[in-house]
Amino acid sequence: MFNRFIAATLPLMPQRVVWLFSRSYIAGDNLEAAMAACRALNALGAKTTIDILGEFIQDIQAAEKNRDEYLALIDTAQQSGIDGNYSVKPTMFGLLIDAEACYRHIHDIVAKAAGYGNFIRIDMEDSACVDREIDLFRRLHAEYPCHVGLAVQAYLRRSRADLDSLVDLHTPATPLNLRLCKGIYAEPWRVAFQRHDEINDHFLEDLEFMFQNGIYPGIATHDRDLIDGAHSLIDTYQVPTDRYEFQMLYGVTPELRRTIIEAGHTMRVYVPYGRHWFGYATRRLKENPKLVSSIVHSMLFN
Ligand code: FAD
Repeated sequence: MFNRFIAATLPLMPQRVVWLFSRSYIAGDNLEAAMAACRALNALGAKTTIDILGEFIQDIQAAEKNRDEYLALIDTAQQSGIDGNYSVKPTMFGLLIDAEACYRHIHDIVAKAAGYGNFIRIDMEDSACVDREIDLFRRLHAEYPCHVGLAVQAYLRRSRADLDSLVDLHTPATPLNLRLCKGIYAEPWRVAFQRHDEINDHFLEDLEFMFQNGIYPGIATHDRDLIDGAHSLIDTYQVPTDRYEFQMLYGVTPELRRTIIEAGHTMRVYVPYGRHWFGYATRRLKENPKLVSSIVHSMLFN
C-alpha cells in the first residue's frame, strides 16, 4: 500500500528527490559515464545496448540535436572498443510530429552504425506509436537488413499478428532480429493483456514462434519463470547459443544476470544515460516501488 502510494506520487515529487531513487537505473547524465558503465559491463562478460534518454519531443528542432548526439555517441563508443550496439526511441526524433523527419534522422543513425558493421534497435513505445514504428522499421530494414531491429511487446493483443507479418522479412542470410519484452506502458485492456499469467503465456508463445521461424530473439526479461521457459524452448528447438541472446536493464537483477552469463549465454544490458532521465526512471520505479520505500526508510531512520 505504502509502496503503491509512493510510486503513484513519483511524478509529483521534485526531480532532485526522484533522482535519488533513480540513479541505480541510469548510467549517468553524460557520455563519459555511459562509457564507464559499458566498460564495466563488458568486463563482467555482458554486451551492451546504449540508449540516450529522451522521448516524446514537442519541438521538431530537438530531433536534429538528438540525432547529432547519437552520431557522436556511436563514434565515441566504436573508437573506445565498447562491445555493444544502440537503442533508439523514435518519439525522440519526432515520430508523432513529423514522421518523415524522424525517418531521416534515424536513417542517419542506422547508416552511421552500419558503417561500423553495428546495429540499431528501435524500441517499441506506447500503442499510439506501434504502426508508425513498424513502418519505420520496414523502411530501414529494406535498406539495412543486418543493421536494424525492432522490439515487440508480448502484452499487446496485436503482437502475434505483427510477428506473422514481420516474418516475411526474414531470410536465412539476413535473419530478423527482434527484442521480445513484456511491454511497460499503461495500456487499456482492449489493447493489451493485463494479467501477469496471460502476458507470460503470450511472451513464451511469441518466443516459440521466433525460434520456429529462425528469428534471432533478444529475450528481454528479469522474470525467472520466463527465463526458465526460454531455456526449455532453447532445449526443445536445439537453438545454438549464437542464435539468441538474453537482455536486461541496467541496475536490475544483477545476480540473475551473472548466472545467465556464467551458464554460457549471451547477455546484453540496456544502458540508458543522459539529461532527460525522468520519464524512463519513473517507469522503472513504478515497476519496483520497494526501492523507493527502502530509500525513504533509510533517509528517515538511519
Ligand atoms: P516483471 O514481472 O516486471 O519483473 C520480474 C522481476 O524482475 C521482478 O519480480 C523483479 O524482481 C525484477 N524487476 C523487474 N523490473 C525491476 C525494476 N525496475 N527494479 C528492480 N527489479 C525489477 N518495454 C517496452 O515497452 N518497450 C521496449 O522497447 C522495451 N525495451 C526493453 C529492453 C530491455 C533490455 C528490457 C529488459 C526491458 C525492456 N522493456 C521495454 C521493459 C519491459 O517491457 C518490462 O517492463 C520490464 O522488463 C519488466 O518486465 P520483466 O519481464 O522483467 O517482468
